[in-house]
Amino acid sequence: MSVLNETHDPALRSWLASANDDARGFPVQNLPYCVFRPASSQEAWRPGAGIGDRILDLAALARTQPFSGEAARALAACQDSGLNTLMALGPACWSALRLALSRALREGSPMQQAIEPLLVAQAEAEFSVPARIGDYTDFYISLHHATAVGRQFRPDNPLLPNYKWVPIGYHGRASSIGVAQQFHRPVGQTRPAQEGGTPGFGPCARLDYEVELGVFIGTGNPLGRRIGLEDAEAHVFGLTVLNDWSARDLQAWEYQPLGPFLSKNFASTISPWIVTLEALAPFRAPFQRAAGEPMPLPYLSGAQNSAAGAFDVRLQATLSTAQSRGQGEAAATLSRSNFRDAYWSVGQLVTHHTVNGCNLQPGDLLGTGTLSGPEPDQAGSLLELTQGGKTPLTLPWGETRTFLQDGDEVSLGAECVKPGYPRLSFGAAVGRVLPAL
Ligand code: CA
Repeated sequence: MSVLNETHDPALRSWLASANDDARGFPVQNLPYCVFRPASSQEAWRPGAGIGDRILDLAALARTQPFSGEAARALAACQDSGLNTLMALGPACWSALRLALSRALREGSPMQQAIEPLLVAQAEAEFSVPARIGDYTDFYISLHHATAVGRQFRPDNPLLPNYKWVPIGYHGRASSIGVAQQFHRPVGQTRPAQEGGTPGFGPCARLDYEVELGVFIGTGNPLGRRIGLEDAEAHVFGLTVLNDWSARDLQAWEYQPLGPFLSKNFASTISPWIVTLEALAPFRAPFQRAAGEPMPLPYLSGAQNSAAGAFDVRLQATLSTAQSRGQGEAAATLSRSNFRDAYWSVGQLVTHHTVNGCNLQPGDLLGTGTLSGPEPDQAGSLLELTQGGKTPLTLPWGETRTFLQDGDEVSLGAECVKPGYPRLSFGAAVGRVLPAL
């Protein structure tokens, strides 16, 4: 578990003016990672670190060999088209690189002149998925989401009996995960109008988004060797924002008995940025169960997890439409929620995933599941916000929505905010729905 150190000093400022602009959320205390190249170029993808409105080109920095020891080892791993090599090195190297970058980018650094030519404007860059994602697992860790969705199908008994004991998850699809995605509305089978009839086939009519965070695995574990809860966070590189788009009508027909399939695997959008767990150390919170809730089984319980296993990360979903963009309207805010309201912690997900010996690998992505809060305006999907499509939302410019229409663009953002500390942004997971092919 990362502890506070000099990189978290709230008084630190960067020699790059835009880093000290709270609205950007990329201060010297954040230093999120991405993979980028100059926009519309054929140059190689390479790792970068976000600072203000710029990206520090870490592959170019590595060629100048400015650091020594573990920081040098970590920086050398940034000469790759993904972050996997860095991810595989582990927390001592990640922390050493963070410290070296913090010292290089803060006010008074003797490295300013050497680094300035290696900064690329974010507005002039294009981004890639930041790691080669071998496997993607999606969990279901919001009790509020599980209860609200379960109530639509089982009003008297919304939660299944396993929910409060097992971090529920399923294996998703990695190949269709992207950044800044524009994807065609999925097509597929839907439930027959009458029982025993022929299913429908056509474009999804109940297309939805899901507000999630993504957990990027750093170091993995050998097949057959579980990761204990006390070690679990040392295997986590950082967090990103994730939109797990869902075709609700396709899902309703296909999901029994094995779970969702084509209703989920057509696209999953992440922010290009990964905020490290070390950067999030000032925003840790106790992981607690409300009175009357069962305590997790011993392998999912631990003192560190109870003391500080949760993270205070604010999430927001916004929607723009073809009409609203044409009229120059600001995007509408659909919900706000917080990761600290989740029922399971990051460490518990890693430990549970490996308790049977399943091996995680550097770059694997774990989705948290939809992160809804206890209040109606904290619901992280249209399924919840519109009560399964029964109650349309009226958008500020007059349009209504039950589910997403062609041309709709959903932007999911996350940030950490507290008095006396610079704001940390996770960037945004932005995706737009194109008409079905
Ligand atoms: Ca999901």
